[in-house]
Amino acid sequence: AVIALDCHADAGAGGGVGGGLSRLAGLPDEAFAQDGQITKRDQRAVTLARLAPRPGELLWDVGAGCGSVSIEWMRSHPACQAIAIETRADRRAFIEANREALGVPGLEIVAGRAPEALDGLAAPDAVFIGGGVTVPGVAERCWGALPPGGRLVANAVTLEGEAALVALQARWRGDLTRLSVSHARPLGGFHGWRPAMPVTLLSARK
Ligand code: SAH
Repeated sequence: AVIALDCHADAGAGGGVGGGLSRLAGLPDEAFAQDGQITKRDQRAVTLARLAPRPGELLWDVGAGCGSVSIEWMRSHPACQAIAIETRADRRAFIEANREALGVPGLEIVAGRAPEALDGLAAPDAVFIGGGVTVPGVAERCWGALPPGGRLVANAVTLEGEAALVALQARWRGDLTRLSVSHARPLGGFHGWRPAMPVTLLSARK
């Protein structure tokens, strides 16, 4: 309890609510207000490890959904900043609720559709593309905004999204990784593995 309080002494409004939660990425999906279209906790932990936040760095979270990735980025260190770009108003409402509840009220929310919505944003140190990777110009615009050494991570669950990642990897190199996670679920009187949809990650350094 002492550690949790200390971690969130700087968390501002909502810090008390988030005070019992770790700052390490991979919070339970239930910790976020969301509609099921969330980067699931195990894939999210891997994604954040590859994004590799350092104190003071800025993340663009493109297709932010409920904001889980940008929120965990900001929770990793009080000086980390993030901009969540999301086209859907109902999902932006989740981001607003989650940034308060999880102690990162400074998370900036941009309403609109990438790539146009990216115009004029402060240059990022890292970019996560969780939605819109098949939209022409999105990945290019993100890559172009990164400084040398900047990190780009993109996730895809559809074949079309994965094809886009393969094409990007041919240009920018980096790693393609596929995560297949199964969860134990009741099966008759016993339990069995229920596989979740595999997620493909592209992780590249400029
Ligand atoms: N990482 C998110 C899940 C993202 S789901 C989370 O954990 O909640 C993909 C999201 O991308 C959806 O909410 C969708 O509305 C959004 N999206 C898709 N294309 C987009 C675009 N071109 N610009 C902005 N948002 C986009």
